[in-house]
Amino acid sequence: VTVARQLTLRHDDDAVEIVRRHLGHLVCDPAAAASPLFPGGQTAADQALSGFRVGGYARRRSNVWPDEARGASRLSPYIRHGLLQLGRVWDAVGDGPAADVGKFRDELLWQEYARHLYARVGSRTAQPLRSLPATGSWTYSQEPLPTDMACLDHVATELTETGWLVNQTRMWVASQWTVRSGHDWRAGEDWMFRHLLDGSRAANRLGWQWTIGAGTGQPYGFSRWQVERRAPSWCASCALAAACPIEAWPTTGSAVTIDGPAEIRHLPSDAEALERVAGPTSPAGDGQPDAVWITAESLGDADPALAAWPDLPVIFVFDEPLLERLQLSTKRLVFLTECLVDLAVRRNVTAVIGDPAEVLSGRSLATTFAPVPGWRRVSAAAAQLRIHPWPWLVQPTTGTVASFSAWARATRAPVAPRNAKR
Ligand SMILES: Cc1cc2nc3c(=O)[nH]c(=O)nc-3n(C[C@H](O)[C@H](O)[C@H](O)COP(=O)(O)OP(=O)(O)OC[C@H]3O[C@@H](n4cnc5c(N)ncnc54)[C@H](O)[C@@H]3O)c2cc1C
Repeated sequence: VTVARQLTLRHDDDAVEIVRRHLGHLVCDPAAAASPLFPGGQTAADQALSGFRVGGYARRRSNVWPDEARGASRLSPYIRHGLLQLGRVWDAVGDGPAADVGKFRDELLWQEYARHLYARVGSRTAQPLRSLPATGSWTYSQEPLPTDMACLDHVATELTETGWLVNQTRMWVASQWTVRSGHDWRAGEDWMFRHLLDGSRAANRLGWQWTIGAGTGQPYGFSRWQVERRAPSWCASCALAAACPIEAWPTTGSAVTIDGPAEIRHLPSDAEALERVAGPTSPAGDGQPDAVWITAESLGDADPALAAWPDLPVIFVFDEPLLERLQLSTKRLVFLTECLVDLAVRRNVTAVIGDPAEVLSGRSLATTFAPVPGWRRVSAAAAQLRIHPWPWLVQPTTGTVASFSAWARATRAPVAPRNAKR
């Protein structure tokens, strides 16, 4: 039995200091600090959204370097932790150029698709879903990325220092790690997850499965060509410029189609099966809650349970046994703590460090359903729960989640017509 420690947060608390003092035993880099790019909290999330201009997004989204050439929104840490709900971001770009709005909204749908897939398949997304390489498996290895290639060195430094990468360089990492080096993607996925401020098992695993071909049968090949196109100055400064190890296209071999979990293609069409995956569609449960329990999935002011119970105190649990296993970066825990400190400007917030099942045991709480396996496990410990619906962008159905385009058809997700496949 772990002994839970409780912190009442104040709006002027220093998040880095809190992490050093109370959570330092749970991180992979105890001496590190906050991300220089992403302050946590609703206030910072609102500023990031109001500062984003979607114009030029379609053309510039995949640019890597220089920084000014990039077109990605950098909203992902706020979206991942529910400070910006997908519906709000969707509406916020409505008056931009049609092609950019269509492309950007499609990416929001990829996030929604990742959540639907994970809600349905859960921890089995750690297994290849649809295909394997011809060799049958990858060796599990913690071997880091090569440091003598300027491109990968820049990317690894950016990830560990800022906690964020553009989509393009995430694909470079995943492809180098697995398609070229033959290492098991799960070690690479764990490494990226440890550092990404937007790291979610839902989107990270989907991204890895998609890049290495485990989700589609078609691995993404990484070579010098992409670096010259997306970050031209990196090759010029590389010690291996005249002997580039990725000059040629990688041999990807052919993938073997596998069955994967049956529920990818459909769920039993009964309301109970769907509710287990998607949560309730209207507030459920009973009892008079004495606090609102918030989770890392939904830390924003618009969290449905927070909004429904404006006068109740708020509790957040740092899941000590889980964090001990994950060894996340300091930046990630500082980001979460900043979110709580910012919330403490408006609400009475207590953070507890311990085992959530023990901390919540026997309590009467209000909360928002979260479409992740951990929520189901932990929420079962509370004696009484008032459960508020998850704010889906597209309501889940019992239809297929086997691929983005099949899912989009099954849910009638509003994909921009020319982007239905990619
Ligand atoms: C190997 C790999 C790992 C990834 N891991 C994660 C992860 O852990 N968490 C995560 O949120 N995204 C992940 N992605 C998806 C994507 O790279 C990031 O969402 C995006 O780069 C975040 O930057 P942005 O906010 O500027 O994105 P933008 O391009 O501005 O897109 C806006 C939003 O759309 C969503 N989005 C964009 N692309 C994708 C995508 N391919 N899949 C799912 N959602 C998307 C994100 O919420 C993003 O914030 C991963 C992609 C790959 C290839």
